[in-house]
Formats: sequence, C-alpha cells, structure tokens
Amino acid sequence: MESNGNMNHGVDNTASTITIKGILSLLTQSVNEKDEKRLISLGMGDPTAHSCFHTTHVAPEAVVDALQSDKFNGYAPTVGLPQTRRAIAEYLSRDLPYKLTSDDVFVTSGCTQAIDVAMAMLACPGANILLPRPGFPIYELCAAFRQIEVRHFDLLPQKGWEVDLDGIESLADQNTVALVIINPGNPCGNVYSYQHLEKIAETANKIKTLVIADEVYGHLTFGGNPFVPMGIFGSIVPVLTLGSLSKRWIVPGWRLGWFVTTDPCGMFRKPKVIERMKKYFDILGGPATFIQAAVPSVLQQTDESFFKKTLNTLKQASEICCDRIKEIPCISCPHKPEGSMAVMLKLNLSLLDDISDDIDFCFKLAKEESVIILPGTAVGLKNWIRITFAVDPYSLEEGLGRIKSFYHRHAMQ
Ligand SMILES: *Cc1c(COP(=O)(O)O)cnc(C)c1O
Repeated sequence: MESNGNMNHGVDNTASTITIKGILSLLTQSVNEKDEKRLISLGMGDPTAHSCFHTTHVAPEAVVDALQSDKFNGYAPTVGLPQTRRAIAEYLSRDLPYKLTSDDVFVTSGCTQAIDVAMAMLACPGANILLPRPGFPIYELCAAFRQIEVRHFDLLPQKGWEVDLDGIESLADQNTVALVIINPGNPCGNVYSYQHLEKIAETANKIKTLVIADEVYGHLTFGGNPFVPMGIFGSIVPVLTLGSLSKRWIVPGWRLGWFVTTDPCGMFRKPKVIERMKKYFDILGGPATFIQAAVPSVLQQTDESFFKKTLNTLKQASEICCDRIKEIPCISCPHKPEGSMAVMLKLNLSLLDDISDDIDFCFKLAKEESVIILPGTAVGLKNWIRITFAVDPYSLEEGLGRIKSFYHRHAMQ
C-alpha cells in the first residue's frame, strides 16, 4: 500500500485523460489578448451563451411556482421526488411500446451524473466497457476512476457514423459490462435509423451485454432520420437510458437528468440490484428539490412550437456550417449533421504548409484568429475537428470566415 495522502491510487489513467473543458480552457488561454477581434467559441456545447437559443417560458415559470409554493425547501428522496420520477417515466413512455413506471426512473444531477451512476453500478474487478470512437470523453474519465478497462469501437464516417458492429463482436468478452451508444450523436451530429439500432440491440444480445443509451440529445433531430429511443429494443437487450433537460430544454445549468432502466423484461428489477442502486443514490444527493418539483410542468406543458423553433434554428445553423466549410479546402464534412449540436470535420493537412496536426491547427487558430474549436484528438480522432454549431448565425459566419482566412494564410503554395 502506498502512503496516506496519495490521491492517485490506481487511477493513473485519469490524469492523462483529456477532457473537453480542459483542452478548451488551454485554447482560450492561448488567444491573443491584444487581438481586436472578439473571441468566437465554436468549441463548447453551451448554447445558452447565444440569445437565439433560449428555453421556453414554461420552464422558469414552473421553477418559480415550485419555489414560491414553499413546499420544496426540504430534502427530496435521494432517488428523486415521486412526481418527478413519474413525470419522466410518462415522458419517455410516449415513445415506447411499453410503459415505464416511476420505479424505473432515478433523478440525477444532469446526464453527467447518470453516466457516473451507470459506471459505478457496473464496475467490478476485470470489467471492460465498449465505448464509441469518436465519443464523449466523460465516459473514459468515469471508467478510469472506476478502473473499468475501456475498449473502443469505431463509428464509420462513410456510413453516417454507424457503429462498426463486426468490430464490437471482436472486442467483447465475458467481462464486457456494457456497450455505450450516443444517439443523436455527439460529436458527430448523426442520428441512427430504427434498423441500425435494432442491429445494435441484436449485437449486444449476442455478446451478452447491456446497452447504455445516452439520449441527452433525444428529439433534437432535423434531418431524414427521426429520433428512435433505444428503449424500443428493451426486450431484445436490457437498456439503461440516460438523459436530461440540459439540451432539449436548453437549461444545462439546472443539472436535472435521469438514469432509467428501459427494460421490460425486468433484468434490473431484482431486489439486490434495486437495493444497491438506492444505496448509491444515498451518497449522491441529486438536483435541488425545487428544480425537481418543476419537472412535471416542464415535461407536460412545453408547447410543440418551442421545440420546432429550436430545431429550425439548429437546422439553419448546421446548414451555414456545411456551406461555409465547402469554401475551406482543408476541411471536409463526410456526413451532414442531422441532429444534436456538433459535427465532426476532417482536416486535410497536406494542403497546409506549417500545421503538424489537429492540436497545432486549433492552437494556431486560437492565437491568430481568436476562434476556438475542439481538436478531434479530444474526442478520439486525430486530425479531425469538432465544431459546435449551436451558436448564433452571425458568430458562426464570422468564425468560419476567420477559419477560411487562416487556411489561406497557411495554405501550401
Ligand atoms: C452534454 C452531454 C452530456 C451531459 O449532459 P448534462 O445534462 O449537462 O450533464 C452527456 N452526454 C453527452 C453526449 C453530452 O453531449
């Protein structure tokens, strides 16, 4: 045993895990403060920075009502308020061929905590987990803290970022505890078809593992494929559905999420499993009680017009992004985004004179143009970049215009 005070026990991997926030903050530090151009960030997924992305009036009204009622100043049950759990079960059941109950729902501090809960529940000596590449680095970080071995399967850009199903079968073994999918996708902006999700379910069933479905962008689709929740295939394979209000309702700071057992066969309904889950929630605390109390109204009363408006804004922004990218020879878009708020773009470094890789590209861009974008390395794909298009159209145009000038200055002669 190492001496006391060593806070790095067995978590050596965590220190080297790149986080999106970490790399964006380094990029922001390298912006030239004397630059007259304003800073434009196409790196971070917080649309609340832009006035065109605004939550519905229903949401703050529900919170004000909950707070003013004076009934929600106490602790909530650690798994969540009963009415909140019920409302989330009803909301998710609208799109499923079976009904969820309140017992299937656990209220978390955003989808981030739901990810942590999933990892904590599945961790055991020797466990491994299958994660998508490119992916969302919180999964790698959580797995490292839990000492779960990560095995990456590829998402295939030429197939609309579908999962490489053959790859999955060769990665899995008897210690594989879960297969993670993110749909609609971050960082790729793809949306899986019913048929592809069904194949994922069948593959997971074949390798005898469960599916963690990160649906934090659920319903945020604006292309050909509609959103299909993985829970539809819950009778083929047990599914843990993770989500939150953060993205669809544009309130990421409210920290209201859910961890849901979408599992009509009741694999998770064993008394010991439920007991362990409840105990774990006793450590967590969960979101503020008055935010939880607002959830039933938020989920039941938001009008369709709010969702339509958000989707229109996202669709237009994604189109601006794709059109402007066409004018920048060193960047290409293998698959137009059809959902979520981000897109993966490929760099062609052979067209650039003095740029060594995606990280170099992003740091020089930050320094010279005061534009922040995320290097693909941060999400597992070297020499790609991720652009978040949940940005006001003016900033998006200007940011991409600056990337174009950057290209011309660095183009191979
Ligand atoms: C934003 C995001 C999360 C985290 O959601 P919060 O509700 O803000 O915690 C989880 N997964 C993916 C893929 C995300 O993009």
